[in-house]
Amino acid sequence: MRRSGARYFSTVSVAPEERRRPDGSVLETPERISASSSWGRLDARRRARHNLPVPEAWLVPRRPSPVVNEAVCSAHSSCTKEVTCNCFSISDGELQEVGVGIYPSVSLLNHACRPNCVMVFEGRTLLLRAVRDIQPLEELTISYTDMMRPSKERRKRLQEQYYFLCQCEYCTSTDTDSDMLSGPEEAWMSLQHHIPQIELLQSEQKWEQILTEFQALARSCADTVPDRNIYLLRLLDLALDSCINLAQWDRALEFGTRTLQPYRLYYPDPHPARAIQLMRVGKLQHLLGRLAEARDTLGQAYDVMKVTHGSEHALTNQLRRMREEIEAEMGSA
Ligand SMILES: [Zn+2]
Repeated sequence: MRRSGARYFSTVSVAPEERRRPDGSVLETPERISASSSWGRLDARRRARHNLPVPEAWLVPRRPSPVVNEAVCSAHSSCTKEVTCNCFSISDGELQEVGVGIYPSVSLLNHACRPNCVMVFEGRTLLLRAVRDIQPLEELTISYTDMMRPSKERRKRLQEQYYFLCQCEYCTSTDTDSDMLSGPEEAWMSLQHHIPQIELLQSEQKWEQILTEFQALARSCADTVPDRNIYLLRLLDLALDSCINLAQWDRALEFGTRTLQPYRLYYPDPHPARAIQLMRVGKLQHLLGRLAEARDTLGQAYDVMKVTHGSEHALTNQLRRMREEIEAEMGSA
């Protein structure tokens, strides 16, 4: 799928662990991990419990302000469409959006619903990384939209935001829709209907209210909608986040664990979202003293992250250090 005349092709064979950028230029992004994020808080509590030093990266005191290219602010209506098409969300280490930026070179990458590349940030650098073997002359692609949406919704978003109708095999075959929309339609439609309202509660940080709403919705569809239904999955993620913010670690781990199998299903190739989810669950297991499980989960996160982020990325190094700490704790137990 294309949004521009030019495209990027691989001139050489690329293995997933190699680092690639289209033109080698350094692209500006905000600072990474925020200590005020739920993830940061989880780390801080675990480290306090185990009397561990807090790494410098977690002491960043503020959530970064959004980076908006001047072109966005001054865009005349006639070029708004082009600007919107070529914006990229900038995310922090927790994959939360912290701003938007315009990256002309990366804008030439076309979309695929199952892409062969992903983009991640490292400090001030945007990295384009291969997640599958890429043959010479094979086009490099990224996904412009969240892959965890049914085909109809993906196509609608791509049409509205990027002005093309995706005709890829995942959109035309609609094979994954049966999993994403599994369960009785009237039950999951009710879940879907409530998501915007619960996301609003999230933006207002009303964690207890989110959990109350989630419990009521979960009861209403008890045992009929499986966790792989994407609307229940979204609600599980919101409940997980709420529990972390309320320091309800056992419940957080229960919700987080339920998301892992669906994440594996919907992200069959290495994907940053799956790495981060595994990392969150592994941290919870570690915090709760379930060391063998934590070592295994963080090992899985590491296997994904060394592809999506690279073995030298700060987050991958963080994972490596956590595994070493667990090994040390297990050895001294
Ligand atoms: Zn598609």
